[in-house]
Amino acid sequence: MRSFLLLCLSLYIVSAKHEIYDGYVVYEVYPNNVDEIQLLNDVVNELELDVWTYANLVKPGAIFVSEPKKVPFENAMKSAGIPCKATIQNIRELLELEDQQLAAATTSTRNLGSRLSLNQIYTFAQVTEYLADIARRFPRVTRLVNGGNSVQGRPIQYLEISTTGIQNSRKPIIMLQSLLHAREWVTLPPSLYAIHKLVVDVTESDLLNNYDWIVMPVANPDGYEWSRTNARFWRKNRRTGLMAGNICLGVDLNRNFNVNWGTASSSSVCSDTFHGRGAHSEPETQAVVNVLNRYRGRVAMYIDLHSAGSMILYGWGNGTLVPNALSLNLGGTRMAQAIDAVKWAQKPNYRVGNIVAILRYTASGGSSDFAQAIGIPFSYTYELPARLSSTGTNVFLVDPNFIRQAAIETWAGIVAGARHILNQI
Ligand SMILES: [Zn+2]
Repeated sequence: MRSFLLLCLSLYIVSAKHEIYDGYVVYEVYPNNVDEIQLLNDVVNELELDVWTYANLVKPGAIFVSEPKKVPFENAMKSAGIPCKATIQNIRELLELEDQQLAAATTSTRNLGSRLSLNQIYTFAQVTEYLADIARRFPRVTRLVNGGNSVQGRPIQYLEISTTGIQNSRKPIIMLQSLLHAREWVTLPPSLYAIHKLVVDVTESDLLNNYDWIVMPVANPDGYEWSRTNARFWRKNRRTGLMAGNICLGVDLNRNFNVNWGTASSSSVCSDTFHGRGAHSEPETQAVVNVLNRYRGRVAMYIDLHSAGSMILYGWGNGTLVPNALSLNLGGTRMAQAIDAVKWAQKPNYRVGNIVAILRYTASGGSSDFAQAIGIPFSYTYELPARLSSTGTNVFLVDPNFIRQAAIETWAGIVAGARHILNQI
């Protein structure tokens, strides 16, 4: 009887977990020209909407809209003459399906230590265990560092990987990071797989001879945990005390860096692109900044993994091309080609370019712009592929079958990039 009650309780918790998204709808929007794209962006800012995919002239945008904002949004689209249609209306069902699929694919929930499972998306606790075990088993080539604590006190850890001792100042460094945006779960396996390929199953030893590596798999631990336990589509960190009663909370960490801070982001706490009370106000941002500053002059390539859209992007976020845009484009193209060569046939090819040229919207305070600004020559934002869906644009949910593929193909891109830039740094 007791176990029956527990079962009922756990089923109830599972089904109640996604209730907060009842009434939400994903709209696809089809602006016809750049003026309409601008109008759309204005509406998004005014209504503080959550953009899942930015519209451009060849691809519709996807906007996630809560119940009370549906009518104002539809009216705004109507008066702007921008076609739009509601595509996903059964959010809770899709989330429950994701839960079931991920649970079914998970081969083992027990502690796997440093053995990496690519059938599942690790929890924060599992990542912590994985990193600790790697550091324990491979003390000669790894060092686990706590880069500071999150708002809620979780360690923001990164792994230093070096065959020659990380202090060798002649060796360039490649830094890789994921989950700065909490809901972009598919970005975690590629980071863990990079560690696996650099420490456990080394098949590209030139990458260790030529570089030291820094991998920060969970750059936003509080947000990530929140997205797993309470709100699947949470993007920001969990900073509270920003407004009375914490009606809205959280800072978009990828708008919080000190590069053109506050010029193309939101000053409203309720927005998903809220830039914070000041540049570098958040401990999670500071953790990244501290690593980049500590190894300033040595970090040759910085890759911040995001999702979604199959893109490799570079600065600046205001649309001005960075001085070395040509070499960034070449490096990005090499990486994209390497990914495309092994990608799933049904996924789109990667696109490479300046963030504004590709996405048609501006963004300030981004991590890769910051890295670029302090002199890291090859600073990129990856946007990993979206989940394909027959029900519409469905960008953040994870297909368990794609986890291994995401890891392998992203690694192929990183390897190609590392080899390409070697004679240019
Ligand atoms: Zn992101």
